Amino acid sequence: MYRQTFIQWGQAHIVLVVPVEFMEYETVIGLEVHVQLKTSSKMFCSCPADYQSAPPNSTVCPVCLGLPGALPVINRKAVDYTIMTGLALNCEIPEHTKFDRKNYPYPDLMKGYQISQYDLPLAVKGCLEILVNGDQKTVGIERVHLEEDVAKLQHVSNESGVNYSLVDVNRSGQALMEIVSMPDMRSPDEALAYLSSIHSIVQYLGVSTANMQDGSFRCDANVSVRPFGAPEFGTRTEVKNMNSYRAVFQALNYEVERQCNLLEQGDRVVQETRGWVEERNITVSQRSKEYAHDYRYFPEPDLPPLIVDSKWVERIKSLIPELGHNRKLRFMSEFALSDYDADLLTLSKDTADYFEEVLNLYSTAAVDIANVHKMVSNWILGDLTRLLNLSSLSIYESKVSPGKLVQLITLISTGSLSASLGKTVLEECFESGDDPDNIVAANGYVQINDVTVMEQAVSDVIDQNPKAVADYLDGNESAARFLMGQIMKLTQGQANPDVANQLILARLETERVK
Ligand code: ADP
Ligand code: MG
Ligand code: ZN
Repeated sequence: MYRQTFIQWGQAHIVLVVPVEFMEYETVIGLEVHVQLKTSSKMFCSCPADYQSAPPNSTVCPVCLGLPGALPVINRKAVDYTIMTGLALNCEIPEHTKFDRKNYPYPDLMKGYQISQYDLPLAVKGCLEILVNGDQKTVGIERVHLEEDVAKLQHVSNESGVNYSLVDVNRSGQALMEIVSMPDMRSPDEALAYLSSIHSIVQYLGVSTANMQDGSFRCDANVSVRPFGAPEFGTRTEVKNMNSYRAVFQALNYEVERQCNLLEQGDRVVQETRGWVEERNITVSQRSKEYAHDYRYFPEPDLPPLIVDSKWVERIKSLIPELGHNRKLRFMSEFALSDYDADLLTLSKDTADYFEEVLNLYSTAAVDIANVHKMVSNWILGDLTRLLNLSSLSIYESKVSPGKLVQLITLISTGSLSASLGKTVLEECFESGDDPDNIVAANGYVQINDVTVMEQAVSDVIDQNPKAVADYLDGNESAARFLMGQIMKLTQGQANPDVANQLILARLETERVK
């Protein structure tokens, strides 16, 4: 929606037509991120946590089924992971913490209450630096707490039009960590930067797979708008149901515009929970907002309060690995990579690990090291990433192990394989998992470096293409590229392109003086 507005500039009155959300209102966003923890058992029982691949309702016990009388036991690993995340987010770790019951009735909540943390969470008062369009900004972290996940409902309707729901209890009782930000973000761009930074941190810490598609990493977005300069925040809505960054971004933009329009029309924003409907690109009202008192929180009587002493905190602190941002800086200084390349390589921990594994394997080879870093980075970020994207595989799922990439790059850097044939070899290795050395031997993919052999090819191509030669001599530079292409064709891509290029240019010059 657009709106006319007037500003005075000296003597002049200027009419501006601007989208309302940019002109009059400030956006305020706070995110609640739910992260499923990578523990081996569930939060309060010993059922296996690997629920995604298990048949429905097979990883359950009286505790996670919510049977009366069953007693929960705290998963220490989940507590460790939450403390670790809190520390990585610069939080304070209070000594006293406890679990509380959050009561609400819903078919996916087996006990009729969720064990969560209310007033004494494991981590509080943190902050996170984010980078948005080159500007640094700090987002406050209100709290990081631990709770349990709920069962999974699947709504079905059969051919006779009967609607019913299926319950899979496997997810019930999974360890779930919630990270709550302060309402510090001021645009959907900032929200995305925050989200991807949190995502990177939990992945690097190894506390979660943080897979958004399968629901291991979920985000509820709280958003409000207010006139610029207003002392109070506006009424917020909470948007759920987004399972990609794109969806979060679109839902936030939609909500900002919707709220601005309401205010423009003199209406109020209603505090409520809304759901993002991917197919229609809109948010719809789901239910009116519940408040803390609706949940009748009280301390979980079946669990003791937890004392997290400084020794425990120190132990966890010592386990924190190098995080993405630092790793990126190290890649830039240690391997002389550009900001851009280092950023892409460290975006996912797996890619960064893979890169370093290749370099470690390579470190014995006697080649120009600065060049090798760039070469390895180019092969990973270029052709390998392209193949991974096409097949939706992650880097360690592919058949191109670090060792195989080393073989390939060695063949190229020693001159026995041209870069263009290298791409073919990579594709074949990606398909079959065969060693690049074998692929090259089996197909005779050797680079021709022999000048005599290449001179013959140059001669043949010059003889067979008099028109291109004439064009070149007339000043048409691209004719040389055409001739070069013919040489590669004649040698089945095996000619060393640098040498061939030099030979053909020299030969063309001798044609000129003829
Ligand atoms: P609730 O359980 O009611 O959703 P939480 O404390 O878990 O409350 O989360 C509230 C979230 O909403 C926080 O991320 C906070 O930053 C954000 N928030 C609070 N007020 C506003 C507001 N006016 N506009 C946008 N976000 C807000
Ligand atoms: Mg909320
Ligand atoms: Zn169980």
